[in-house]
Amino acid sequence: MDQTPPTPPPTQIPEQPDEPEMMPTIGPTRHPKFYCISPTLTDGIVIQAQNTLYRLSFHGLARGSHFFASVFSINNGDLKEGSSDECPIILPESITSDAFEAYLWYDTKYEENPSQEYLINAISISRSWSIQHLFGYAFDHFRRQFFLGQIHPAVVLGVARKNGIPDLIEPAVKALAKPSIPLASWCTSPGILHHVTLEDICKISRMKEKLWTARTALCKVPPIVHDLASCLQDHRNICSGSWRQFWLLEVVPRLLELNDELDSRLVWIGTDLVAKAKVEGMARLCLANTVQKVVANAGWRAEIWIPEGAVESLMVPERMMLAPDSE
Ligand SMILES: [Zn+2]
Repeated sequence: MDQTPPTPPPTQIPEQPDEPEMMPTIGPTRHPKFYCISPTLTDGIVIQAQNTLYRLSFHGLARGSHFFASVFSINNGDLKEGSSDECPIILPESITSDAFEAYLWYDTKYEENPSQEYLINAISISRSWSIQHLFGYAFDHFRRQFFLGQIHPAVVLGVARKNGIPDLIEPAVKALAKPSIPLASWCTSPGILHHVTLEDICKISRMKEKLWTARTALCKVPPIVHDLASCLQDHRNICSGSWRQFWLLEVVPRLLELNDELDSRLVWIGTDLVAKAKVEGMARLCLANTVQKVVANAGWRAEIWIPEGAVESLMVPERMMLAPDSE
């Protein structure tokens, strides 16, 4: 039997636009300030960062950064690369135009209170190019603004990890561990996500989850340890009931109080509220035995060891810089 192949549906030919619009290729543009056209600039080199061109004194740039001098001096002989807009020295992708300009602005104008973005760019370029004086300036302001609460600890963590600044890891992680900074308050904020990696967020999330689990685990009423000699059988129910009531009415509300106050910290709840507990209706030795056992629980120190573990897992080695710039 003849089988006619099924007729394919009529092919729709997509309508072609009459004239394919040619998107003009936009080449790099000259920076309005840092593209120097002065004829007195005899050692000018053209540099391209992302889509911006700069023309600056080679010796000026080399003086600020040993790294720059050592990498680009190779071309200084015949200066083909860097000689014109058509043949610029193209900076690696990791050096953004903003970061490069952070270096250029530094010598141009002094800022009393530089912006967060400026500081991050300045840290990035000064770490990449071993520009000690710029790094010192940017790092001091960055740290100061962080301690003043002007820069979010997650941004500090991201910048510290990316640029190899171990000194900032611990204060950033410990700030993020605080109950007053819940993950939900920042983990979807674009201004912060821009600076942190997925690994950073996952490790901080794990820390926050562990902290919360440690707190809720302590809410369970710990078993009472009766002193069998002094707490007789017919008193034990009263004894246990009093302990249970103390835990549920005094300890648990404090455990569920999420703020940065001292008396909401686990160490304080353990060593103060529980260790010094006076529980009416409970036999003296039963209370002593029970408290002794309860305060030995490692959970009271969770807010110390959990962030310490996170610090360890997020730690980075110091990114070494070349010797200080010579003047
Ligand atoms: Zn008892």
